Amino acid sequence: MPTPPSISNPISSGTAGRPVAIVTGGSRGIGRGIVERLAADGWAVAINFHSRRDAADELAAQLASSGGDCLVVQGDIASSADRQRVVAETLTRFGRIDLLVNNAGITSPGRKDLLEATEESWDQVLGTNLKGPFFLAQAAAREMVRLVEAGTIDRGTIINVSSISGFAVSTNRGDYCIAKAAMQMMTWLFATRLADSRILVYEICPGVIASDMTAPVQEKYDKLIADGLSPIRRWGQPGDVAAAVSMLASGALPFSTGERIHVDGGFHIQRL
Ligand code: NAD
Repeated sequence: MPTPPSISNPISSGTAGRPVAIVTGGSRGIGRGIVERLAADGWAVAINFHSRRDAADELAAQLASSGGDCLVVQGDIASSADRQRVVAETLTRFGRIDLLVNNAGITSPGRKDLLEATEESWDQVLGTNLKGPFFLAQAAAREMVRLVEAGTIDRGTIINVSSISGFAVSTNRGDYCIAKAAMQMMTWLFATRLADSRILVYEICPGVIASDMTAPVQEKYDKLIADGLSPIRRWGQPGDVAAAVSMLASGALPFSTGERIHVDGGFHIQRL
């Protein structure tokens, strides 16, 4: 019978220094908020970025100036070779991986109606938002299992950033909705498979969050929010999602796995 993860000293797991997180799409938006929060909590962070090296370097320098320890690692999460490299570079630099945050994602290109949606968009969205996170979780989990068995880390955590689009329909973003809905099953699958290895797996389900992704639809959401889209009438901020990551990553919920945490101002509550 495996011993349960300890919560006595949440971020001090294992023996070799700070716990280490990989955050995909960490250079801007929600990912950046997560990186900043984890660094403030004492994590060493591998900041994965796709194309904005300037933003990733600037963030790493900002965190280093306040005592943070970050690695900047380029990689397209939809690419198998890049995923393997992100994991390998993190291990080379830090020698351990305690946490993976599958944050990187794209919206549906062109937001086409279901009857106009293309296979190209499907492949791109599912490749980045589902296949990429799935196989990165697999790659990271293999290392976490080994590291837990070796006693290098005490426990592992995987957090998948899905969306309210996993349960709220947008007929002009079918591929995005399907990819995000599937993340719940992906979370349950890994949670079940990895529990005996002391690795806990969670889903965070953000609502409308201010970022580059939502900037083009800001006016639409300003109005919807003012009209009561969510009981809490404001835009979510990256820091709201980061607060949930911080709590889950700390080991504060040691008897919970496969759980979905809503960060949506109450949007998910059905109302009459
Ligand atoms: P964003 O567009 O501001 O940032 C997305 C990040 O993912 C960027 O850093 C980008 O470079 C990275 N990325 C995209 N494709 C990548 C790839 N192939 N490989 C590596 N990195 C890649 O968007 P955001 O709002 O910060 O979104 C972050 C996550 O939160 C996404 O998974 C998104 O679906 C989810 N989400 C966002 C909202 C919202 O309202 N903003 C709501 C629910 C869920």
